[in-house]
Order: sequence, then structure tokens, then C-alpha cells
Amino acid sequence: MAASRATTLAPLITQTAFVAVACVFPLFVGSNSYALYVATQLGVYIIAAIGLNLLAGYAGQVSLGHAAFVAIGAYATALLMVDHAWSFWAASLVSMALATGLGMLSALPSFRLSTWYFAFITLAFALVFEKMIVEWRWLTKGFAGVIGVPAPRIFGYEFGPKILYLLVFASAVVAFLIVRNIVQSRFGRAFVAVRDAPAAALAVGASPQSMKMLAFVIAAAMAGAAGSLFAVQKTVVTPDDFTADFSIFFVLTVVLGGLGTLWGPVIGAFVFFLIPEFLSSLQSWRMLIYGCLLLVLMLFAPHGLAGALRQAWRRYAQTQKTPAAARTDTPVEHVAVAGLALEITGLQKRFGGVAALDDVEFIAPAGSCSAIVGPNGSGKTTLLNVSGGYYLADAGSVRIGGVETNGMSAQRIAALGIGRTFQTPRLLNELAVIENVMLGAYRRERAGFASTALRLPGARAETRRMRAEALDHLEFVGVADHAEDPAGEVPHGQQRLIEIARALMGGARLIMLDEPAAGLSMTELDRLDQLLVRIRKLGATIVIVEHHLDLVASIASFVTVLDRGKILASGSPADVFKDERVLQAYMGDRALRSGA
Ligand code: ADP
Ligand code: MG
Repeated sequence: MAASRATTLAPLITQTAFVAVACVFPLFVGSNSYALYVATQLGVYIIAAIGLNLLAGYAGQVSLGHAAFVAIGAYATALLMVDHAWSFWAASLVSMALATGLGMLSALPSFRLSTWYFAFITLAFALVFEKMIVEWRWLTKGFAGVIGVPAPRIFGYEFGPKILYLLVFASAVVAFLIVRNIVQSRFGRAFVAVRDAPAAALAVGASPQSMKMLAFVIAAAMAGAAGSLFAVQKTVVTPDDFTADFSIFFVLTVVLGGLGTLWGPVIGAFVFFLIPEFLSSLQSWRMLIYGCLLLVLMLFAPHGLAGALRQAWRRYAQTQKTPAAARTDTPVEHVAVAGLALEITGLQKRFGGVAALDDVEFIAPAGSCSAIVGPNGSGKTTLLNVSGGYYLADAGSVRIGGVETNGMSAQRIAALGIGRTFQTPRLLNELAVIENVMLGAYRRERAGFASTALRLPGARAETRRMRAEALDHLEFVGVADHAEDPAGEVPHGQQRLIEIARALMGGARLIMLDEPAAGLSMTELDRLDQLLVRIRKLGATIVIVEHHLDLVASIASFVTVLDRGKILASGSPADVFKDERVLQAYMGDRALRSGA
């Protein structure tokens, strides 16, 4: 017990020590010392890097032009304070808004496209911006730059270098906490879903475009804030400060520190800003050293320095692990739901020359369990994908709970109360199993962005409730033992059950399962059978694509057989499995495959 407390306390102690050292640091250095100057600058870089890490590390959108957003903040603050005598506080709010606004305008078109477009657009933006700073002399004063930026003031009191350091440090702590709160919330889970499994994001009703936009807005605002502090710290803002090198510095800091780890940007900025700064003879070799370090880290520590530290820590904690306390066995009571009917008529879907769906009629009455069977390539997955809005039908109608959904986006259809699992499980492999289940509640959670970022009591209470509920669902599907393990490390069969728990977590009223029994052991198959019975008892409509005909016969009341995109037969399992044509098309195929 003592050992396990030590393993949970140690990170807290390290963090507290880190903050304490940073707080007392100014007491030991002179007001005009080089050390204080460098430490303040480090804090500014950390703020920008923390924002970039949220965007690139968590949401998977690499900005190659982060320096431009820092530059917007720096120039806006410098110009407003020098030319218009604004207060620092007002100027820095405007700086953040400007960085966010200009960033959104430039990046908006790329959010529908792949990650590469975003990287290129931000790079192009930074290169153009760099030129504009020089060319727009009337505004930016060209190469001379904006000089004499005054120090921030509060009630007439002017900030000296030490107070400025504390302001920067406090801002970095705030940025860190905001990002931590977001990362550990439904927004963070949705960011990771957009990065690792976009189909899962759609399945839980999160729009990838909005998620990318949200991450970008936060990153740009933090870059703007960093720029603002940059201006008052340096007191001079020139085009030389914001070259492409500077953008690359941020990317390297975040990547080398550890993409998608909370401490990555902090550790990265420390190592890659401080080391070259103090070994000034190395300055000209900086890029080369970065490059070599990047290679070494990619080979030996794919999650950067923070990842390597975390790994070492986990290994140590593992040796100290004491058995978890037994869970109290309170029976799980699940809320009944009203099932939604799925009605499909005249559905057509072609892929090039292939008619994946050809005039398909399919009805799953509310609260029923209907199965779709058929040989491989007969269009079963396509039927689920078109019903869920992942593909647009060429013709025909899909009605869910009486609502025409053909043409609606996948995340809007999901929001009607549709849950699904995928033929190949789409899990967030790096996140804990329970986090994957909690992702399912994305659109049920009510806490808004601000209360989440500030971790207000309401948001905290909701997270606690969701966690407890997610654990309930994991017990329901029988994977609770793995709740805290990374989803990617769970055996394949159980990954399918986690997807079912995720769908249940969303309160699904129509649940579509794509070959849930594939690769399950006999015991797991048994459990799946019982699980489906329990889900049906709750009231949800189940549509299941499945090859295990025993399972289908035991659970489904209706069976539809697809063959090359056409309906071959439909009816009760007993009737359908006797049908001559079905035996030929389907059993023949199975018999062939099993070598009989
Ligand atoms: P099943 O799930 O019954 O095995 P699918 O629905 O996956 O079958 O596929 C039906 C047909 O449509 C196959 O011929 C497949 O190659 C084709 N198909 C499915 N999805 C796509 C896609 N995204 N692009 C092109 N062809 C596809
Ligand atoms: Mg399929």
C-alpha cells in the first residue's frame, strides 16, 4: 500500500517541486541578469509550444507556421502599445483574438482536407506573413521593427523584469492547466479520435472539422498570448525574430519533447532552447544538432523525451504495483431506451463499376434484432456505412426512427441515437479502455468548453458520473478488468466488446454491429450472445452483420441475405437458412472456404 501511494504521489511531488523552484528562482538572480532574461524567454516559448502540442500532438494537425501566430501577437501588442498607447492587457486580448481570427481565415479551407493540406497552408501562411512584415512598412516599420515597447502596468505600477518573469511563468502554468483539463475531457478524447480513428469520432457524433478548428483556435490564441509577452519582454519586435527557423524550432520542440504528452512541450523547450542558449559556441550548429537529436529520438523514443521518461516511470511503477482492491459487486442497472426503427427502400450504391448495393430493401422494426448475412463482398458493410452516413447513397431512402437521413452527415445521424461497431475495431489505442468508452458519451456530456477548460465543479461532477457509467458498461460487456489498460494492448476479441460498450455509452437506440463475433473464442462468443440478449432487453434495435449462423439463429428474429449487392432472401432464420438459393450462394461459399 505504501509503495503504491509512493508511485501515485511521486509525479505530484516532482510537479510541485518544479513549480516551487520556478517561483523562488527570481530571488536568486539579479533583476537585469541574463539568467532571468533567458528564463522569461523560455516561459514565452513554453506557452506557444503548449498550444502547438494540443494542436499537433493531440488533434494530429501539424502547424508548420506557428511562428507567424506568435508574430501576429507580438506585432499587435507592440504597435498598439507604442503607437496607440494601449495598456498591455487590452493589447494582449486583441493580439490573441487577431492571431486566432487570421489563423482561422487562412486555415479554414484546409479542415475538410487531409492533415498535409493544413501543414502546407500554415507553412505558406508563415512564409507570406514573414514577407508582409518586411513589405508593409507603413504598418510594421519594416526591418527597423517596432522599438520601445513599454512594460505592462497595473494601477500605474510598472512591472520590473522579475514581476514580468512571474507573469510569464503564471501564464505558462495557466496554459498548461487549460490544456491538461481539455485533454482529459470529452474534447480531448474527440481530438485523439480525430487523430487516430476519424470513423470513431463520427460514430460518437463529433465533427472532425469542428474538432480541428477548436484545437487550432486554442493553439493560435496561445501563440498570440506568447507573442504579446514576447513583445514586452524583448521591448523590440523585428522581422528577424520570426523567420521560418522559428517555426521549425517550435515543431522540433514539441516533437522532440514528446508529441501528445502534457510535459512534452515544457521538457522540449527546456532542452532545445536552454542548451544551445548556454553553449553559445554551438549556436551555429543548432539546426544540425536538432536534426541528429530528432533522428536519435525517432529511433529510440518515438514519444519524445517526455514519452521516454513516462515509459521509465511506468516500468518502475509496475515493479511497485500492489494488487488492486476488489471492486464492490453492485449490480448494474441500465436504463431502458426506446428502440429506433431502420427502414431502407430502393437503396443504390456503386463504387466505380461495382454495384455494392442494388435496390436494397431492408426493415428493422423498433426494438428488434435483425441480421444481415451474405458472402464476403456482398455489400453488408456498405449497407451499414450508407445507413450511418459514412457514404452517400446514389439513390433510395434511409429512415431512422421515421426521420429521412439520406444526405445527413455521419455525426448528425449518430446524434439521433445510432451507435455502431466496425469490422476492424476503431479504438484510440493509446488511451485507456475506460477513456474509449467515455468517448461514446461525447454528445451526451453537457459541460461547455469554458467550464471544461477551467475544470469548474459542474464539469468535474459530470466527468466523475461518466467515468462511473463507463465502468458499468465495461462490466456489462465483461472487460472491466482492462479498464485502465491502453486499448491497443487488449486482446482483439475484447476490443470488439469495448466498441459495443462505447456505443452503449452514447445511449444508442439503434446499434449496428459489423461482424462482432469475428475472431472471438468460444467463451467470448457465449458472452456476446448473452450480451446481445441483454441489449435487446434494454429496448435498443440491433442490426447485426454476422457470419456465425448459430449466433444469428439464436439472437435474430429477422435475417436478410445479401449477395452481390442484391437481396437474395429475407425472413425468419429458420425459413431463410432452408432456402435453396441461400444455401447455394452463402453456404456454398462457406463450404468452399472451409475446404469441404
Ligand atoms: P461485405 O461487408 O459484405 O464483405 P462490402 O460492403 O465491404 O462487403 O463491399 C461490397 C463491395 O463494395 C465490394 O466489392 C467492395 O470491394 C466494394 N467496396 C466497399 N467499400 C468500398 C470503397 N470504399 N471503395 C470502393 N469499393 C468499395
Ligand atoms: Mg464487411
